[in-house]
Formats: sequence, C-alpha cells, structure tokens
Amino acid sequence: MKYFFETFYLKFKNMDLEMRILVTSMLCGMLICFSAAIGNFLLALEPITSLVTFSMGLSYLYFLNQVFQKNNYKLASYVSLFFLTCIVFPILWFFNGGLSSSIPYFYIFMVFLTAVILNNFKYGFMLFLQLCVMLVLILIEFYLPDSIVGYSSKQSQILDMGSSLMILLILIFFLILYIMKEYHRMITQLKLTQVELKDVNAILKHASITDELTKLYNRRYIMDLIESHLKHHINPMKAVIMIDIDFFKKINDQFGHGTGDFVLKRLGEVFTEVLSGNPIARIGGEEFLAIIYSENAPQLAETLRTEVEHIHWDIPDLKVSISAGVYELMSNENLERLLERADASLYKAKAMGRNQVYSYNEF
Ligand code: GH3
Ligand code: MG
Ligand code: MG
Repeated sequence: MKYFFETFYLKFKNMDLEMRILVTSMLCGMLICFSAAIGNFLLALEPITSLVTFSMGLSYLYFLNQVFQKNNYKLASYVSLFFLTCIVFPILWFFNGGLSSSIPYFYIFMVFLTAVILNNFKYGFMLFLQLCVMLVLILIEFYLPDSIVGYSSKQSQILDMGSSLMILLILIFFLILYIMKEYHRMITQLKLTQVELKDVNAILKHASITDELTKLYNRRYIMDLIESHLKHHINPMKAVIMIDIDFFKKINDQFGHGTGDFVLKRLGEVFTEVLSGNPIARIGGEEFLAIIYSENAPQLAETLRTEVEHIHWDIPDLKVSISAGVYELMSNENLERLLERADASLYKAKAMGRNQVYSYNEF
C-alpha cells in the first residue's frame, strides 16, 4: 500500500500542471461518488442511486488508472464527463428527488469540473450537452412531476442536501485553492525564468558585439552602428579612424604569439581610454576602426599614435607603433565609400613610413 502511494505521488509530481489538475479533479469526483453512494445507502434512498454513484466511483478509478498507466488524458476526461452527464445524472435526478434535491449542486460542480478539465480542448460541445440534458430533466420534472422519486422524509432530504452541500463546498474550496496555488507557483517560476533569460540575453548580446581578445566591439557591431548612424543621423558621426599596428607580424615572430595577443589587449585599453566614449572595434587581426563624434578626429588619432608610441612595455626591445587613417565625413555618405577612404588614408600613412596619422582630406 505504501509502495502504491509512493509511486502514485512520484508519478503525480512529475506530471505537468494540466495533468495534475485533471487527476486532482478526478480524485474529487471519485470521492464525491463513493461518499454519495454510502450516503444514499445510509439514508435509505432508492438502491439504484447508491448503485449508480458507486459504479461511477469505480469508473473514475478505472479512468485514473488509464491516465496513470497510458497517459490517456483526453479519452478518460471525455468519457467520464459524458457518462456523468448522460447516464449518472439523469438516473440520480429521477431517483433522488430531482430539482429539489442535492443533484443540482453536483451538476454545478460537474460544470465547474468540465471547465477545469477540458480547458485545453473542446469544451463547447460538452457544456452544450450538459445544458441540454439539464433542460430536458427540468422540463420532464415540470410536465411529469410524478416521474421523480422523492425523499422518504423531509429529514432525509435535509440530511442529503445538507451533507452534499458541505462536501461540495469543501471540495470546491480546496480544488480552487490547489489550482490557484499551482498557477501561482508556475507564474513565480516563469518570472524567475524570465529574469534568468534577461541575464542570459544580456550576456549573449554583450558576447555578440564584443571582440573576445581585446573586449572592444567587434566588426559586425561597428559596421551596424555606422550604417545606423548613416541612416538615422540621431548622433551624427563626424569622422572615422582606421588603425593598423605596424609590423605586427614581426612582433609575433620575434616575441611569440602570446606577446602579440598581449599587445593587442593593451592597445585596446589605451584606445578605449583615449577615445573616451567614441566607440572603437577590432575589425581584423590587428586592425581597428573608431567612430568619432567630435570635430577633432585628426588630433585624437595623433594622441592615439603618441600614446601607443610611449607605452612602457616590460619586454626588452619591444617597440609598438600604429598607423592611422582619418576620414572626416561629408554629406550623403555611404558605408563603402567611407571605409574605402579611411582605408586609403591608412594606406597612405603606412606608405609614408608608418607610425603616422594621415587625414583623407589632405589628399
Ligand atoms: P604592416 O605594418 O604593413 O601592417 O605589417 P604587419 O606585419 O602588421 O601586417 P600583416 O598584415 O603582414 O600582418 C598582420 C599579422 O597580424 C599577421 C597575423 O599573424 C597577426 N595577427 C592577426 N591576428 C592576430 C591575433 O589575434 N593575435 C596575434 N598575436 N597575431 C595576430
Ligand atoms: Mg599591421
Ligand atoms: Mg593589417
């Protein structure tokens, strides 16, 4: 028995919310059926009322088993609701006092269960069916009141209706409480996941726009940024600076790739410091591109050059310099022309002997 409950609980815990609510509702249905069967028997109501409720309780057991063993969610729900609506309730209606008995209470509970259980699939038909059956039962009672088998005494009616009302009130209360608790737990979990996703998103976004080695922006980001500036003119850029490390291959060859990487990182820091707020990206191996929002791009480029020239490297004989090409933007600029001209300026600076700054407008 203990093993049975443990497996039941474990399976139940691993079900998704929808399933758990279905199972809980079915358990409630089963409880109602069995307690109604016992109650009807004790109150000496028509034997058929105990028989019908008892067999419905048994069929709930069977459906619960279906849900557990075969995950047969839909069929079990449909069949059990259909049984209740078309067979169990009409029989109870006729043999257990009709409209002035406890049966309408159970009908209300069943409609509530229909909404809970079928919330994910076709409930329109089931609700329609339930209303039709109810209407037919009321009409029959209205036109043929003698067809209803009433209670044997007023006391037994009060006992039946009173106990049913109490049982249902308690069950509805706890069922709704359970559903609300589960939903709240799910919402809290969703909120947590949302926060986590936001964090992951921020990390991913940062990674997608950052060059891993230098922590500057990457090529894609700066190109997108330039395109966006050219399109929207919200934060007008005045110039771009293209930078290339001089004889970097030699640095690698002479001092090793690790030192080469170290130089790239250090230059990244220096560039960020000097450019303060003007974005810069590593657009190739040892090539960089900066967007300048102020009018002093040539001076800034010159500062970059001298700052690099004067970096103190703790490595004997290591000398690092950069060449820079400045291009101050004209009206109606486009990305290709802008890059071409910045590149031409850089080429010129290289041709002039490196460790130079050249502005395109000097051509
Ligand atoms: P120039 O003055 O004409 O620019 O000469 P250079 O040697 O700098 O130019 P070149 O384009 O011939 O060589 C660039 C070198 O940069 C070659 C490549 O091995 C090195 N490089 C590219 N990316 C990286 C990197 O991520 N780390 C290191 N350590 N080296 C890199
Ligand atoms: Mg180079
Ligand atoms: Mg290069």
